[in-house]
Amino acid sequence: MSTLLDWLKAAFSVQYQKKNEVNFPCPYCGHNAFYFNFRKKIGYCHRASCGRKPTLKDLIQIKGYGPTDWPAYWDPDPIIKITEKNIELPGVDLYTSRDNWAIDALRYRGISDRDICKWKITTTNTRIYIPIIQDYKIVQYVGRMIDRQKHPKDGFNTIIQPKYKYAEGNSISNFIFGWGEEMKNWKYLVLVENTFNAIAWRDKFNCSTNFGSNLSDAQIKLIYNSFIQKVILAWDDDAKTKVWNVAQKLSTHGIVVVIIEYTQSNQPDQVNFKLLEAAINTAIISAPPSYGSLIVRIEE
Ligand SMILES: [Zn+2]
Repeated sequence: MSTLLDWLKAAFSVQYQKKNEVNFPCPYCGHNAFYFNFRKKIGYCHRASCGRKPTLKDLIQIKGYGPTDWPAYWDPDPIIKITEKNIELPGVDLYTSRDNWAIDALRYRGISDRDICKWKITTTNTRIYIPIIQDYKIVQYVGRMIDRQKHPKDGFNTIIQPKYKYAEGNSISNFIFGWGEEMKNWKYLVLVENTFNAIAWRDKFNCSTNFGSNLSDAQIKLIYNSFIQKVILAWDDDAKTKVWNVAQKLSTHGIVVVIIEYTQSNQPDQVNFKLLEAAINTAIISAPPSYGSLIVRIEE
């Protein structure tokens, strides 16, 4: 606890401390009756016209720096439970079984034979399974519904639910696809929502997926503890509000964020690939504002 208290005392004009609370002038309105509870990590301004209740993160944002050990104050601290039993991957190995319909369906999504082999993708009659391997261990899988009655090109267009199936135990939102030593050394990371896009674009521009339009504390922690300094968010356009929340979370952890926006298409794989590539390359080389995020907009 001492480091947080030290930081409060150094960063603000602390008048006095009483149990878990310190008093200092409100960082928003300057009123003297402002108290910050360093156990609950929340403050309260008693001036009626202000009444702000900043969190520790808010205070850090105001100051531009935090206590040296402040990642330890993440609230709530994520608990990642990894089940002991090995996750059984359903189906047969797609690469060796030469299931041509499934191979073609994946090819239409930009996934090569090499990818199929590398990521150990399997198939059953109704699903294509992509194992989530983290640090050499299968921790989850994504089972995507397929319709073999259709042409492989449209093979994923199915109304049968659930569209996605996961193994029981580990929440998919704890993981980042393909996480391991190689990724930890990347300087930047492009995140998309779709697992197929993540596989197809991985080598083109350090692409991966967080499996949807949210970044959990566990996923942020993975990124924070790696060498990745910049995250480029190329999520679907309907995730606009969420993207900003996540961008703010990442920035508070000193990670540079660039957001890719689209004017017409609403998913990165619907955009002309040359434009997408140009946008991501721009995102990679551009310096962001000193605080906050940078937007790269694809105009079609
Ligand atoms: Zn105030």
